[in-house]
Amino acid sequence: MKVYFWGTRGSLPVSLTAREVRTKIAAAIREAVQHNFSNGTDIENFIDEKLPFFIRGSYGGNTSCVEIRGGDEYILCDAGTGLRDFGNYIIGRGVGKSVYNIFMSHLHWDHIQGFPFFVPAFIPGNQINIYSFHPELEDSFHKQQKTPSFPVPLDSMAAEKRFIVLETGREYQIGGWAVSGIRQNHPGDSYGYCFERDGKKIVYSTDSEHMEDVWNNEQPIISFFRNADLLIFDSQYSFMESTHMKENWGHSSNLLGVELSVAADVKYLCLFHNEPACNDETLDRFLEKTKKYLKIYSDTSPLKICLAYDGLEIEV
Ligand SMILES: [Zn+2]
Ligand SMILES: [Zn+2]
Repeated sequence: MKVYFWGTRGSLPVSLTAREVRTKIAAAIREAVQHNFSNGTDIENFIDEKLPFFIRGSYGGNTSCVEIRGGDEYILCDAGTGLRDFGNYIIGRGVGKSVYNIFMSHLHWDHIQGFPFFVPAFIPGNQINIYSFHPELEDSFHKQQKTPSFPVPLDSMAAEKRFIVLETGREYQIGGWAVSGIRQNHPGDSYGYCFERDGKKIVYSTDSEHMEDVWNNEQPIISFFRNADLLIFDSQYSFMESTHMKENWGHSSNLLGVELSVAADVKYLCLFHNEPACNDETLDRFLEKTKKYLKIYSDTSPLKICLAYDGLEIEV
């Protein structure tokens, strides 16, 4: 099974400016003039092996939307602007009538704002099941498409839409997955999701601030993360930001992600909900610092780490 990241940015969408693209091109050319290329393969290898990610690529700017592939139906976590790209991908492939299951961490705008642009929701015969632990689920989707905020009301989208409010402490069978949730510390609450199938466990945990969890292995969140093959984790802030300037803002940090993952024997930690103020170079450094911190546990933990970007695919 695979996990594909359509949107990875926290709080609001961002995009590269012309100046930032120019800076990347200039840096790539400066590096390239030191090499001789005899064919296209040489150039491809140079890009992949010699240029750092912040020069050759970009972390992207879509807000939260993650697809979990490998089940009988489409499974998505959150409906940020990445959902628009997912929908266009589906339309481009000529996919017929389908069932889409969208699991909402919470209803903040960066997690719902892609839905009005989700083309499969306009096609009759498609079935879209939207799950949340928030009772205001359906109302919040209606509100963002009401005049004067948006010209197309939710009811004008022709697909069949079902809004389903879940309860914690229960396990649901949805789209071939065993799904459960946990309440998380965030303004207005957010919820993490655990997806299990064929002996694999994927946890999606975004928009969550962990205050005392690290210091007590009995905390429910440690059990929730326990033995996950992949943990997608809100690490919008550095440790200093999360404990000083931005305490109680509802987000966690890279270092707490490592601590919780090691404590819970997580196999692969994917840092997620990237800070919109960070450019690609800053995010590259953020990942490197996190990897350095993980070396503390190199003798005792096989944990691996990555930093999510739009277009990342992880094999689980
Ligand atoms: Zn968010
Ligand atoms: Zn939020």
